[in-house]
Amino acid sequence: MLIDLTACIRNGDATGGIAASVVFANSWGMSDTHTLTHAIENRRDDLIALTQDLIRIPTLNPPGENYREICEYLNRRLLNSGFETKLVRAHGTPGDSEKYPRWNIVARREGAHAGDCIHFNSHTDVVEVGNGWTVDPFGSDLIDGKIYGRGACDMKGGLAASIIAAEAFLEVHPDFSGAIEISGTADEESGGYGGVAYLAEHGFFKNVQHVIIPEPLNKDRVCLGHRGGWWAEIETFGEIAHGSMPFLGDCAVRHMGAVLGEFEDKLFPAMAARRTDMPVVPEGARSSTMNINSIHGGQAEQSDDFTGLPAHCVPDSCRIVIDRRFLVEESLDQVRDEVTGLLEGLKSTRQKFDYSLTELNSVLPSMTDRDAPVVKTVAAQIEQVLGRPAEFVASPGTYDQKHIDRIGKLKNCIAYGPGILELAHKPDEYIGVDDMIDSAKVMAGALREILVG
Ligand SMILES: [Zn+2]
Repeated sequence: MLIDLTACIRNGDATGGIAASVVFANSWGMSDTHTLTHAIENRRDDLIALTQDLIRIPTLNPPGENYREICEYLNRRLLNSGFETKLVRAHGTPGDSEKYPRWNIVARREGAHAGDCIHFNSHTDVVEVGNGWTVDPFGSDLIDGKIYGRGACDMKGGLAASIIAAEAFLEVHPDFSGAIEISGTADEESGGYGGVAYLAEHGFFKNVQHVIIPEPLNKDRVCLGHRGGWWAEIETFGEIAHGSMPFLGDCAVRHMGAVLGEFEDKLFPAMAARRTDMPVVPEGARSSTMNINSIHGGQAEQSDDFTGLPAHCVPDSCRIVIDRRFLVEESLDQVRDEVTGLLEGLKSTRQKFDYSLTELNSVLPSMTDRDAPVVKTVAAQIEQVLGRPAEFVASPGTYDQKHIDRIGKLKNCIAYGPGILELAHKPDEYIGVDDMIDSAKVMAGALREILVG
């Protein structure tokens, strides 16, 4: 009977049959695992609708649009599921203004008995749309089992999966011990200072023992942490003169060319040769890397409707922003010294070379221990749900774990969620519905392992 029912549910048979299987589950000796599995599969349509709704709220960052709207949507949903909620504005954090307030939501559902709290944290912001889309980036089209849109995999699909996991768990195990928290936070894509960092500074993780961040690291992987990052602006200086007599001035763009030459000849090969023991994916990120984020030199670009020609000037300023990602084996001082060493070298070898370097931000690498309780619990659930051992990885980019680790002082934190990492920030980003279902089963199983005695 059990086997027949499972088969009929897998085949997507009438929901009446599915509901009956839940009601009579225990009298047929069904295990809790199966009951929880069914409770999630029954919510498939709800999961799709929830994900689509979240994608349709365009929470673009920058500038940080519609944070209040998405928090209010989540507030209605989670109040309805029996959570107590708090909407928290991160006053005074970078980007916070009356026009673009940094709103966050934290929801908590207490259990019937004392115990650990598991916190699911998802960021609600998404990055710019960019070019190359073949579907509406905020249309939430469901095509062949995939929901498309900006933020579908990074990370509204993960947020939806964690909500469905919690709601299914609450239905099956209303008498649980401890507490479940779900947060939707701002600004992860720009550093998380108006989101998780603010919450951590204001004590929101004090009563939390386990944190799962449903970032899109793939449904069979536990992400233990991330590489570090160092961001800086470098400016080279010159002297303005008439463009027909460049020898009377000093071209800041050519000086920057020399900087880039040093990077190409020395820095990039040195970084590529370094390998980390961190299990970073994809493979290319197991070395140190650097992106030249932007370059601006000379006259400011005119608006598109300007029809004039440029004036003839030697540029006296050129600026780049560098985005240097480093390994747990490197220190921030080494990273900084390597770049300034090259710049100082140019100062002694290149005539009239002068520069300034402004640090914009830095983040140290973060790695959770392989034996941490949340790691072991989620890994065991991945094996149970997917029938293969979990893979342990680290993320090439930083995410909000850094704030939970350093400000919240909580080491028992991982990223685990549905979605293909390589689709994040790309055109035609999507999330697979089956992947969300599977990862919701893993999350709900982890809730059961930790919160049900
Ligand atoms: Zn993300």
